[in-house]
Amino acid sequence: MVIKFQKNEEWFTFYDSKGTLIERKTEVRFDPLTGETSRIVFDSGAAIVPPDYTEAAKQTIGVKCPFCPENLLHMTPVFPKEVAKDGRIFQGKAVVFPNLFPYSKHNGVVIFSDQHYIKLEQFTTELIMDAFLAAQTYIQNVKGTDPKAKYASINWNYLPYSGGSVLHPHIQAIVSESPTNYQTRSSNKLLEYSQDNDGIDFHYSLYHTEKNLGERWIGECGQVAWMHAFAPKSHNDFIAVFLQSHSIYDISEQDWADFARGLQAIFATLTEQGFASFNLALNVALDQEARQLVYAHLIPRITIGKLNTSDINVFQALQNEPLSFKTPEVVAAIARNNFQKL
Ligand SMILES: [Zn+2]
Repeated sequence: MVIKFQKNEEWFTFYDSKGTLIERKTEVRFDPLTGETSRIVFDSGAAIVPPDYTEAAKQTIGVKCPFCPENLLHMTPVFPKEVAKDGRIFQGKAVVFPNLFPYSKHNGVVIFSDQHYIKLEQFTTELIMDAFLAAQTYIQNVKGTDPKAKYASINWNYLPYSGGSVLHPHIQAIVSESPTNYQTRSSNKLLEYSQDNDGIDFHYSLYHTEKNLGERWIGECGQVAWMHAFAPKSHNDFIAVFLQSHSIYDISEQDWADFARGLQAIFATLTEQGFASFNLALNVALDQEARQLVYAHLIPRITIGKLNTSDINVFQALQNEPLSFKTPEVVAAIARNNFQKL
C-alpha cells in the first residue's frame, strides 16, 4: 500500500527595476496514480469575483427555458419504453430525459428541480441526492437494455464559466461504448496499481494515507470520504471516494445523501474563496465484479481579473499541464473547517 507524493521545486530569480532580488517558486507535483504533472504557480492575488446570475436568471426563466415546468413535459424528448416506462425518469423533484445534443450513445439530462437558478448555498441534501439517484436509475436502465454500453459517468457543469449552457441546474449521465481519454488512462493506472499492491485499490490506499497524514484530508460523511488532490487539476481539486461502492449497483440512497452532505461543505469552501462555478465528474463501473472504488473529482471554474480572463490558457489546453494558484494543503484546511460545521 504505497502512495508516493513527489514534487520538484523550481526557482526563478530576477531583479526589480531598483535591483532588488525577486524569487518566484514553481512547484511541479506528480500525480500519485498517473505520474502526470501539475504546477502550483505564484498567486498574483488577482481579484476573483464570483458571478451573480440573478439578472440573467430573470431573462431566461419560465417560457424561455426548456427545463422550467411550463416547458419541460412538451419541449424535452422522451426515452424508449425499455429505458423509461413513462418516457422520463422521475425521482423526487428530479427529472431525467434524453439530451437533444448527445455526447454519447446514451446521454440523459437530469434537472434537479423546477427551480430555474439555484445558488451554491441553496442546494439541499435532498435536491442533490435525488438528482444523482435519478442519474443512477437511468444508467442502470441503460445497462439493462444495452450490453455494449460499458463506460459510465455522471457529470456536472455548474454555471456558464464551467461550460454549462443552460442556467437551470442539470447534470449529464453518460454511457458509452468507448471510454474517454481520462477513463482509459485512469482505469489502466488503477489496474496497474492494484496488481502491484496485492489487489488493493488505489483510492482505498489514498483514503488511508491521506487520513493518516492529515495535510490534504477533509472529512467523511457515512461511507463517502473527501480529500484534496496532491497534484490538482485546477486551483482546487476535491476528491470524493465511495468507500463501499465498486459499481453503479453498490451505491445506496444513503451514500448519495452522504455524498450530498459532503458536497455542501465543498460548496461552502468554494464560496469562501470567491468561486461560484465548477466541473464535477464521477466515474462509475457498470460491471458488478468491479474491484475499484467509485470516485469523483470537483474543480472550480473561474475567470481572472477585470478582463474576465479564462482560467484555461495554452498550458491546460495544449500543453496538457494543469495550473493552480492555490496550495492544496491550504485549501484542504479551509474545506476541513467547513466539514466540521456540517
Ligand atoms: Zn428553467
